[in-house]
Amino acid sequence: MVSHIMKCPTCEKYTLQETCQMGHGKTQRPLPPKFSLEDKYGKYRREVKKEELVKKGLY
Ligand SMILES: [Zn+2]
Repeated sequence: MVSHIMKCPTCEKYTLQETCQMGHGKTQRPLPPKFSLEDKYGKYRREVKKEELVKKGLY
């Protein structure tokens, strides 16, 4: 999911505009939530592995 939400660094309000509606100037993209692509795929791999074991009746 791509987010186009921007955030004003001055008043810390979220907006969809590239400039703050309060006249603070340019907004910035808020910092993305912490997540690791590696961990995400690691979790996916583990789930696949588990599914395989379930199919084989080993889990
Ligand atoms: Zn602002």
